[in-house]
Amino acid sequence: MCGIVGYLGKEEAKDIVLNGLFKLEYRGYDSAGISLYNNKDKRFELFKDQGRVAHLESLAKTAGASNLAIGHTRWATHGKVNQINAHPHESRSKRFVVVHNGVIENYKSLRRDFLNGMTLDSETDTEVIVQMIDTFAQNMSAKAAIQKTLGLLKGSYALLILDNKHPDRLVAAKNKSPLLLGKSDNGFIVASDLVALAKYSQNFAPLDDYSVAVIEGNQVRFFNKDHAPQEVIFEPMDFDDDLAEMGPYPHFMLKEIMEQPLVVRTIINKYFEDERLVMKPEILAAMAQSDRVYILAAGTSMHAGFVGKSLFEKMTDMPVEVHIASEFAYHPPTLSKKPFFVLISQSGETADLRACLMHIKSLNHQVITITNVRTSTLAREANHFLEIFAGPEIAVASTKAYTAQLIVLTLLAYAYGKQTFDIRKALSELAHAMESYLTDYETIEMLAKTVLTKRNAFFIGRGVDYYVSLEAALKLKEISYLQAEGFAAGELKHGTIALIEEDTPVFGLISDKRIALNTRSNLDEVRSRGARTVTIAIESLSEDEDAIVLPDVHEYLRPAMMVIPTQLISYYAALQRGCDIDKPRNLAKSVTVE
Ligand code: GLU
Repeated sequence: MCGIVGYLGKEEAKDIVLNGLFKLEYRGYDSAGISLYNNKDKRFELFKDQGRVAHLESLAKTAGASNLAIGHTRWATHGKVNQINAHPHESRSKRFVVVHNGVIENYKSLRRDFLNGMTLDSETDTEVIVQMIDTFAQNMSAKAAIQKTLGLLKGSYALLILDNKHPDRLVAAKNKSPLLLGKSDNGFIVASDLVALAKYSQNFAPLDDYSVAVIEGNQVRFFNKDHAPQEVIFEPMDFDDDLAEMGPYPHFMLKEIMEQPLVVRTIINKYFEDERLVMKPEILAAMAQSDRVYILAAGTSMHAGFVGKSLFEKMTDMPVEVHIASEFAYHPPTLSKKPFFVLISQSGETADLRACLMHIKSLNHQVITITNVRTSTLAREANHFLEIFAGPEIAVASTKAYTAQLIVLTLLAYAYGKQTFDIRKALSELAHAMESYLTDYETIEMLAKTVLTKRNAFFIGRGVDYYVSLEAALKLKEISYLQAEGFAAGELKHGTIALIEEDTPVFGLISDKRIALNTRSNLDEVRSRGARTVTIAIESLSEDEDAIVLPDVHEYLRPAMMVIPTQLISYYAALQRGCDIDKPRNLAKSVTVE
């Protein structure tokens, strides 16, 4: 689910589309392609390959002049990274060409039911779309064939479709994956990300789920889910193409929240070779020599450590303890005979952890640092280190580094526990699920405004949801200065429930089937004492009245999904209060004092 750009207008389409693809590079991708209509020869030309957009640009040097083009950067989900699987994909008769971001979940049954089991050229889920359109168009109009195909797709898609019988037409459609239309005096541009529109358009119109945009000549029409015409409403772009690395985002924190799908993909790229997880054998060997893992960390990293503990307990037979670094440094607990230490620090410079490290080394125990900075002190001084590859995190409140820590801890537990489920696929699905959720995050803005009306707030959950609640509460405290607490849902009634009064906000997190009903009962308890409750549930455990429903992902990866709406709640709460979101008062990014 990486990027698409399309253009129809009076300017050179190839240049505009390539330029847009360059802008989309920051999202991470493995292949790139472009299809354009050669005005002179009156035929489509197709260029695609694995590798960078610059490589595609050199391939497309020979292309003729064109006013219509679609381009794609691919992050493979179905089928290898190679030239054939790169987009655009052409239909058998070469009449239709398609680029697609997303995942078609039912592509196998579609191939069987509508394409007579046709052998496809590529291994992608995408190709069924273009072959279906072509097959249906043999007996109906192209528009009807596209409509029929879209009606059969299950999953996520942002699609651009070209038809060589209509070289003045560009069709766009979407569900769950983002797609935006921009317009200039000279034409229309469609792309999956504002950054790719900014140079050519001062305004943009987002497409709704299941809607279709048909650009023909100098006209555009939108159709809704029921194929009825829809008004095209443009919004001002409010985004200066030349401005800092914040891209279209008003704050680094929001940008970093949005980057989480990319971080998941980067970790996949860094930790997998030929689809197999590669975990440093010396780390696994050192762990195998030990009888207990001690996770030491502070703040958000410690909350990641708690989730790590729960993952280790699920995937391995290793006992795990989590300790606050500043406490451990001077009041170490009685240690097991052969302890193995895991230090978690985003910056790798956390002073409290450095004090722990000194102590651990003086006892000659094995220690690994998990950090975002490979050159940092803690990475250098520990026996081993693992990098989390979150990329630079500028906002003081950590978001993407937290999720990256969770994922690297998951990989460590997976490798040590000799698990065999397809974790690469599960991570890929997580990235998609995050991305599809992050397309309609504005609903959270309203929620933050209407619910967070008091000085305090609670986040409650059980098991791993409790650990995510701790992080959710910390984030809200850090940037909005509201007094927020994360609680084990069952513990609230043992004292703290005394604080619940009319309209006290209580967020309940539900991602574990075994305790879903218990947490719901705890929410009922506080609601009957006046609390304003908001349930955040994973889809398969959700109920109709739940305010926030998240796509299902593998159970071990749910914390990384559950945390996202809580980050956005904090962001919008801080925004409404006029707080300095990226640089909250009294806080520093890297805590280098004890
Ligand atoms: N599922 C498609 C593929 O694997 C599209 C991936 C993407 O969004 O880049 O080719």
